Amino acid sequence: MVLILTILVMMLAAWPGEQAVATRVDEHVANQARDEQPDEHDRLAMERTATPPKAPYVTKQVKVRSGDNMGIIFQRLGLRTADLHLIDQLKAADPLRMLRPGQELTFKLTQEGELHSLYYPHSLEQALKVNRREDGFVAKAVRLELDTRENWAQGNIRSSFWGAASEAGMTEDQIMDLAAIFGWDIDFAQDLQPGDSFRVLFEEKFQDDERVASGDILAAEFVNQGEIYRAVLSEDGNYYTPAGKAMRKSFLRAPVNFKYISSNFNPRRLHPVTGKVRPHNGIDYVAPVGTPIMASGSGSVVAAGYNQFNGNYVFIKHAGNYVTKYLHLSKRTVNKGQRVKQGQTIGLLGSTGRVTGAHLHYEFLVAGVHKNPRTLTLPQAETLSGRELSQFKVQAQQQLAKLERSETQLALRRNES
Ligand SMILES: [Zn+2]
Repeated sequence: MVLILTILVMMLAAWPGEQAVATRVDEHVANQARDEQPDEHDRLAMERTATPPKAPYVTKQVKVRSGDNMGIIFQRLGLRTADLHLIDQLKAADPLRMLRPGQELTFKLTQEGELHSLYYPHSLEQALKVNRREDGFVAKAVRLELDTRENWAQGNIRSSFWGAASEAGMTEDQIMDLAAIFGWDIDFAQDLQPGDSFRVLFEEKFQDDERVASGDILAAEFVNQGEIYRAVLSEDGNYYTPAGKAMRKSFLRAPVNFKYISSNFNPRRLHPVTGKVRPHNGIDYVAPVGTPIMASGSGSVVAAGYNQFNGNYVFIKHAGNYVTKYLHLSKRTVNKGQRVKQGQTIGLLGSTGRVTGAHLHYEFLVAGVHKNPRTLTLPQAETLSGRELSQFKVQAQQQLAKLERSETQLALRRNES
């Protein structure tokens, strides 16, 4: 009897252990978190033990699923809610409230299944580390080292800028960045022509030899209708021409982002109402209803309303006696008297008023007279001066020389592959 009881007790004692091992969590067990150095706590623990430590912690990697939060993950791993409450009170642990599906967390558990530490790389450059201390937990932000390399792309535009840029291997963000750099000089929505070309020198971020993100465009050249535009990134974070003039100007060439315009080539501008090519007080941008319309420059809204000809309209007055007008909107998102910033959405493209099809009718007036905003010489851009200018010029020359080399580099690459 005593023997049977003893055996039963032993089995019971062994049971929870078995169960813990058998608990199925999707996370695979690895003995080592990726490129993590043993932390202070681990090292002290190792120094104290004379015998070599035999994997003191169990590492579990958790992939965040949709609908997950830390509470659910703690439950899945069989961790104590009380520990989560302690961690929750740490200000530095805030990123844990914004888990996104697909992200990975690395947990280190003691042999008893208690949380020892957790590691959460929540962005490309930032990770969070939480460690158990005697009196609770500490959380700290860790900067992740990324390797920055330079690369080139170039393209000739045959049917579309977007197509040529993607073919050249540029990402969506890079294409938008490139268009933004030259958006004060070139109307990407309508002024591109077959035969236009571009080349770009840019940074890429690598982690363990794997490309994880695109970095800044360092220098770029765009040839539009035979005219060459060049821009170089300065240390102040802005782009300048090689002579040190700011690329940023008081007006954008187009109040519509080119990505909404199905064809960026528009050699014969047909008026959407009459279907005839004719001189016309403004420029028409044909794009889907709902396309955001931007203020081409900063200023204040002097009119925002509706009538049977203009439909929904917004007029903006800018410094220096300039007025811009935006007609046929499906919706206005600003009111009379309001101040607006360059690039701010002021309404959505529509087909209200006297029109046959959806489009934006855009007008540009200087001292009350209609002008063509795409050929107009706009107010002078800011220019670097003094030491800043001389330093920038040296830097610009180096970057442009690299840009010049891009052709050779890309040709070499083509031959290699
Ligand atoms: Zn029009």
